[in-house]
Amino acid sequence: MFLPTTAAELRDRGWDRPDIVLVTGDTYIDSPFIGAALIGKVLTAAGFRVGIIAQPAVDSGADIGRLGEPRLFWGVTGGSLDSLVANYTAGGRRRRTDDLTPGGRNDRRPDRAVIVYSNLIRRHYKKTVPIVLGGIEASLRRLAHYDYWSNRIRRSILFDAKADYLLYGMADNSVVALARRLQASRSPLDLPGLCYRAARPPAAYLELPAYEEAAADPEAFTAMFHLFYRHQDPVSARGLCQRHGDRFLVHNPPAPYLSQEELDRVHGLAFAREVHPFYRRGGPVRALDTIRFSLASHRGCYGACSFCAIAVHQGQTVRWRSQASLVAEAEELVRHPAFKGIITDVGGPTANMYGFECGQKTSRGVCREKRCLFPAVCNRLPVDHRPQIELLRRLRRVPGVRKVFVASGIRHDLVLADRRWGEAYLRELVTHHISGQLKLAPEHSEPHVLAAMGKPAITSLLAFRDKFFQLTREAGKKQFLTYYFLAAHPGCRAADMRRLRRFAQQQLRLSPRQVQIFTPTPATYATLMYWTGKDPFSGEEIPVARNSRERARQKNILVAGKTTSRR
Ligand code: SF4
Repeated sequence: MFLPTTAAELRDRGWDRPDIVLVTGDTYIDSPFIGAALIGKVLTAAGFRVGIIAQPAVDSGADIGRLGEPRLFWGVTGGSLDSLVANYTAGGRRRRTDDLTPGGRNDRRPDRAVIVYSNLIRRHYKKTVPIVLGGIEASLRRLAHYDYWSNRIRRSILFDAKADYLLYGMADNSVVALARRLQASRSPLDLPGLCYRAARPPAAYLELPAYEEAAADPEAFTAMFHLFYRHQDPVSARGLCQRHGDRFLVHNPPAPYLSQEELDRVHGLAFAREVHPFYRRGGPVRALDTIRFSLASHRGCYGACSFCAIAVHQGQTVRWRSQASLVAEAEELVRHPAFKGIITDVGGPTANMYGFECGQKTSRGVCREKRCLFPAVCNRLPVDHRPQIELLRRLRRVPGVRKVFVASGIRHDLVLADRRWGEAYLRELVTHHISGQLKLAPEHSEPHVLAAMGKPAITSLLAFRDKFFQLTREAGKKQFLTYYFLAAHPGCRAADMRRLRRFAQQQLRLSPRQVQIFTPTPATYATLMYWTGKDPFSGEEIPVARNSRERARQKNILVAGKTTSRR
């Protein structure tokens, strides 16, 4: 059931060589939550021979050459996280641990893994088949982007990695389409979801400010980012291009989202839900505990928080699996020898976006001038928690399942906006689906900081909190809320953190511990603010904490004392 990762496994299958070799910065866990494993299984189901090389040594050809040269292409990903996010804290210190590395030591994933792995392939296979980039690191760096770790605007990663193609977004269908084109010796250049380098772009493509211009002028970078962001919806996006020197980065329109049937089919593929034995020798892999018995119910998020890049990777339209498919997967979990009756999570980027979407968005594309949840929940969004209630009830009834948890974050404003089913959903969560605490991410309390983040007003948090504790009391349970906050987001000063601390102490009766320092990752509006020091919509200047000490100080203002809110 595993994809082969050694020459012996190729021999066992009777293969002389694979069609495709996937190279990844994560260890190989055969799970639908691991991108390389999922893509490998999708390609295998389409009839291709796929091998996988996880976390190859980069100082020799021993690992990268283990399966030989593939017949069609190399697929390269940095793994589930951008390698620089995985390797460094927001304060710039190297992380000691990595949950996706056997043994947990952070010693296998190189910085800028996508570039390093591509160079590794080129070093050992001079004239080889195409190198295709994918995954979050490549996806978010597909155009000129601000790179926090070198503090400058960098070129598209396709130029730096000297790869041939880049597939952005979730790419389940586009990777199969690419493999078929290469197998038939046909050009893949018109495939949706594909980026490539060219001397000239296709005629109808929208030209963004050139890389050199965007790197030199924050206003040009802002204009570039707005255009990029507006052209990410498969229903309405145009093809884009961006000059880099005398060449162009060509960005084809996004691939259509998977239909529910396709999504069900992908998640219905067989996964071992184990670390491959070759990598297991390195020690336990912590991430397995979180993902092994979890269910991915949907993809996409329309929260559009300024600091989050999900919108440009997974998309702003939520697509969900059928209840039948999720129940079938739960039955599959029950048959796993290590399953103890507990489904650890049912969710997606935001757990309670399952089962409803805006009809206008799915027919005409996401609105360009307004947001679905900010400053308030859009009245065209048909918020309906009933499908989630039904799903959770069906999962609870699966023989062999003792407990079903919802560990993914929920949007409390959506719960409140659902006048018909919101309270019933929360009651369901409180009664059956949380393990003592519910995590919320208000991120801040101050209106101008929340506005910069694209988060709802704090009044909705307080209303939700009251409802949560009322239902908790009625259920006769002792449960509490844990709040996640963000320090040093653009627009936030030390004085704002002091006011947040006061708010937390007086209104929530705690001193938060779950406080992160904002990291400017590529392809978010918050990163654009960080780089330009301006509100990208009004053009007004905003304060930005850039100095490491100032950023750490903002966090320290908040962190002390009691951590959870209990009544
Ligand atoms: S109409 Fe409202 S819910 Fe629909 S896409 Fe536009 S902002 Fe989002």
